[in-house]
Amino acid sequence: DSFDNLSGGFKKAWDKLSGVQQLTQENIKDPLKDIRRALLEADVSLPVVRQFVKKVESKAVGTKVIRGIRPDQQLIKFVKDELLDLMGSERAPLEDPTRRGEPQVILMAGLQGVGKTTACGKLALHLKKQGKTVQMIATDVYRPAAIDQLRKLGEQVDVPVFEMGTSAKPADIARRGIQEAKKKKVDCVIVDTAGRLQIDDDMMTELKNVKKAVKPSDTLLVVDAMTGQEASSLVKSFNTDIGITGAILTKMDGDTRGGAALTVKEISGRPIKFVGVGEKMEALEPFYPERMVSRILGMGDILTLVEKAEESIKLEEAEELQKRMMEAKFDFNDFLKQYEMMTSMGPMGNMMKMMPGMGEISNKQMEEADRKMKQAKAIIQSMTPKERENPDLLSSTPSRRARIARGSGNTEEEVSNLVVQFTAMRTKMQDMTKMMQLGQGPGMQD
Ligand code: GDP
Repeated sequence: DSFDNLSGGFKKAWDKLSGVQQLTQENIKDPLKDIRRALLEADVSLPVVRQFVKKVESKAVGTKVIRGIRPDQQLIKFVKDELLDLMGSERAPLEDPTRRGEPQVILMAGLQGVGKTTACGKLALHLKKQGKTVQMIATDVYRPAAIDQLRKLGEQVDVPVFEMGTSAKPADIARRGIQEAKKKKVDCVIVDTAGRLQIDDDMMTELKNVKKAVKPSDTLLVVDAMTGQEASSLVKSFNTDIGITGAILTKMDGDTRGGAALTVKEISGRPIKFVGVGEKMEALEPFYPERMVSRILGMGDILTLVEKAEESIKLEEAEELQKRMMEAKFDFNDFLKQYEMMTSMGPMGNMMKMMPGMGEISNKQMEEADRKMKQAKAIIQSMTPKERENPDLLSSTPSRRARIARGSGNTEEEVSNLVVQFTAMRTKMQDMTKMMQLGQGPGMQD
């Protein structure tokens, strides 16, 4: 498998932790070095690697042992989480242009030879299979062979190709092509563009002009998965100059080391939407980060274990939280944790719908509840660690509330409201605990 090196490097890290009872600053050092080396050897760029290792370290050192889970397995979980964080945890579909009556326009950009024209044909077939009508536009006026190639691919997947030869300007061709697509009421238009061997100003200027002419819903950067360290500067340039909505990673069937796959989203904030896995037109797949992480970490059985570990972590956190509630130690950190637990189970609305008697709750009420929770989160995140631990600091000091209001973009009144609500909730918890303790007292036992 092409991720063998990366997988192997990670494995070294886990192996170093065998027999260890708990992750510590000391014993995590060597494994982290292995992780760092593995990522660098996979051609992940240095800033991305640094950030990755730092995040894993801070999680690993600050975590207590979970029953039934070994420290090495725990480290696998943290690495898995960070990998997912790098690539986005969910698959990212194409943008949905809600401009009614307008075709969905996908602009393809990328250097020469990366598989851009091939990707146009593949994407055309993909969209056709979804029952959409598709048209492609050939704007590479520098290489007649490129136009021929797109025309041939179009014949293969039975999709018309609009072209005006090599003497018109790319932006004009693109504009005319879109007009034609509109006239024919085509659902999707894929615009192939000229690539260069290297990034240069002329190419970017032309891309900008074509983009302006076609107003795409998606601008996809086609990246060769075998691109090494330079992937990050490449992605950065294209994203800064023309703005992308995502990427297609090609040649994933080849001997890639994986770096580009881990770099795109971190550098551009935009996800990989598809991967090319062969030369045939069928060889295009939606990008599933989860599957990719499984491939990288190998070990399906360990991942199952990790998943169980995650459940057990959640369970322990819930128990811990409950204990703190009972002991009336509940603070803003706990509040935030509770919120995160709830959101990890899906949007608030879905949860509320599942509760008995909540069936008739309106969408508007649910949105309002969601908004309130998000606001509370923003407010808490603007508090200092000390304030989060001592909610009473806020009840007594207006200047603190004012600072938090500014920091979180809310009014002072909104901050005060949250503090009042929080205090009321905590008092209620204390009362409940007292009642329960009374209930367990000797008088109630007969
Ligand atoms: P362009 O210059 O970016 O338009 O690149 P092309 O579409 O002409 O592709 C360059 C070469 O890469 C061709 O030989 C393609 O068959 C090949 N290619 C494209 N995508 C893939 C892929 O996902 N896997 C493999 N193995 N080859 C690919």
